[in-house]
Amino acid sequence: MATNYTNSPLVGYTRLVDKHSGERTHAIDRITPHCVVGQVTAARLGDIFSGTRAVSSNYGIALDGTVGLYVEEKNRSWCSSSNANDQRAITIECASDPKPPYAFKPVVYETLVQLCIDICKRNGKKKLLWFGDKTKSLTYNPKPDEMVLTVHRWFANKSCPGDWLYARMDDLARKVTAALNEPTAPTPKPTAKCPYAEPKTAVRYGARGNGVKWVQWHLNKAAGEKLDVDGHFGVLTKAAVLSFQRKHRLAADSIVGSKTRAALKKAL
Ligand SMILES: [Zn+2]
Repeated sequence: MATNYTNSPLVGYTRLVDKHSGERTHAIDRITPHCVVGQVTAARLGDIFSGTRAVSSNYGIALDGTVGLYVEEKNRSWCSSSNANDQRAITIECASDPKPPYAFKPVVYETLVQLCIDICKRNGKKKLLWFGDKTKSLTYNPKPDEMVLTVHRWFANKSCPGDWLYARMDDLARKVTAALNEPTAPTPKPTAKCPYAEPKTAVRYGARGNGVKWVQWHLNKAAGEKLDVDGHFGVLTKAAVLSFQRKHRLAADSIVGSKTRAALKKAL
């Protein structure tokens, strides 16, 4: 298979169980969220998958939002009563109320959104699609960057994932797709670092040395001046200091003391 399978970095509890069919025979292009029908911990879900029933899921989301890993993404879990579905789906069992409509706690739903975003990202998907229609969903041939949501009730006489989540499948798809298409934040410009030591005393017209270079470097960076950083406090540097002091409402005396230095640093 072309995919290099990985697992979610959101996992907070790992208990790999042997209830799976080995490596999946179809690339991942579906996500199938389920309701546990119980407000379970991640460990409790691991107990269930380690018990006698032939059930498992790739991930579980516990009542406190902990993400459990039970069957690695590369393997086909035993979750949706459909071999065809589970060969291509990441299955997620979510802690829910034990009674209809099998509501989730807010943290569980929020975690489901985050986990779906992560699954899509790691598997190269830019869209999570919810059609709300069994035939359309199961016959749809997703593009390489598309992931399709499916539900257990299409494969077995069950209400899974419960009416509570079923009513939110569209919201889930929209939130995940929106997050996948957020423009990436521009890389912040690294803060320029002055190579010269800050002078410890006032620097004024006629001075020479690295303290003057510090002033010239700062005037260039903070005030857009184009001074030669030559360590010579001449007329051009003096004019630039006066201009900076006036702009920043400092005493315009052309002497670079502690207040002017502080303003120069702040203006970077
Ligand atoms: Zn289910």
